[in-house]
Amino acid sequence: MERLAINGGKPVRKTPIYYGHQAIDEDDINAVVDVLKSEFLTCGPAVEVLEQKLCTITGAKYAVAVSNGTAALHAACYAADIQSGDEVITTALTFAASSNCILYMDAIPVFADIDPTTYNIDPRSIEEHICEKTKAVIAVDFTGQAAELDKIRSICNKYNLILIEDGAHSIGTKYNDQFVGSIADLTTFSFHPVKTVTGGEGGAILTNDDKFYQKMCLFRSHGITRNVRLMDFTEKYEDIGNDLGGWYYQQIELGYNYRITDIQAALITSQLDKLTRFKLRRKEIEEQYNRAFKSFPGIILQKNVSKSDTVKHIFVIQLDIDKLSVGRKEIYDALKAENICCNVHYIPVYFFPYYKKLGYKQGMCPIAEKLYKRIITIPLYPAMSNEDVDSVIAAVKKVIGFYLK
Ligand SMILES: *Cc1c(COP(=O)(O)O)cnc(C)c1O
Repeated sequence: MERLAINGGKPVRKTPIYYGHQAIDEDDINAVVDVLKSEFLTCGPAVEVLEQKLCTITGAKYAVAVSNGTAALHAACYAADIQSGDEVITTALTFAASSNCILYMDAIPVFADIDPTTYNIDPRSIEEHICEKTKAVIAVDFTGQAAELDKIRSICNKYNLILIEDGAHSIGTKYNDQFVGSIADLTTFSFHPVKTVTGGEGGAILTNDDKFYQKMCLFRSHGITRNVRLMDFTEKYEDIGNDLGGWYYQQIELGYNYRITDIQAALITSQLDKLTRFKLRRKEIEEQYNRAFKSFPGIILQKNVSKSDTVKHIFVIQLDIDKLSVGRKEIYDALKAENICCNVHYIPVYFFPYYKKLGYKQGMCPIAEKLYKRIITIPLYPAMSNEDVDSVIAAVKKVIGFYLK
């Protein structure tokens, strides 16, 4: 058997490859340069173009572009009118932002467990956690596969809950032939560089609801409006009276500065032109991995959600730990020595000290916790060459093959 790089052997690759990476072409660069030469760097026309494009692509009625995906989740919670003491159900297996946004509202995150095969939030676990304080569900499309939206929607209807979909992984994914963004009451996207489409940073919320849309527009910019129809004139101030000059605005809510720049918006719009290409390439790589690992001992593959036509965001392999002589850390380190730089998605949110201080305890979501100990995210992004893909496959087989019992 070939000697592992971690034991002094020759690494499968000469240069490191990471689990995710942006793909920036000349036209993306030109789109950014055009903005830099234009009149507006922020709050200009590029933001509206992006919002229009997101609506066209997804079929949603409204889009609000914001500074990042976390701000998008915060805005969605605000639009959903989540109040202090409300409970909001989300998955344990996600990035902290999916749950932190609930804390921003002084509300209570309640963690539902996952399906052991698709790793998405389990609708049955959602229903088990519902009580009179429950206000909303934040379902995450883990790895880009849509959550079980039919089932989650009917639970939300039954208990009168708002459905927020954290689509940070799933832009371009379709569920029942409908694009993510047009399905839930509110859907959020992230445009961080590891995501399918990037603006450096950036985010957006999509909705079909006019009231949600108006609220999020205010929320994104301090709660300030120039729209006279929204203004409050019950008090008459001597100095302004009804003298509504062109400068006049009011702050009518407490919002934030969650605006996105035109520089980012132009980059995201340019990237969205390539979404179909990105989707195809991601699918190709996913298929190569599935073929290579399908019957390889020591590896368990994620099961497909049948209604989801997925743009795969990350490729997660589950280690069949009982068949291996070492744990996940040793596999991770050995792959790193082969120059395959993996990651783990995710440490269950309530494992973090901050959540522990709030009273969350290990053992709440046993399926997510068990899975966490067994998963590794291997490189997947459209700019990978076929040689890159082959090197990942070779390294994974080399390392896991070596440690098979
Ligand atoms: C990336 C991510 C976010 C946060 O997005 P940012 O743009 O980094 O703020 C939220 N939820 C999930 C599931 C993510 O992967």
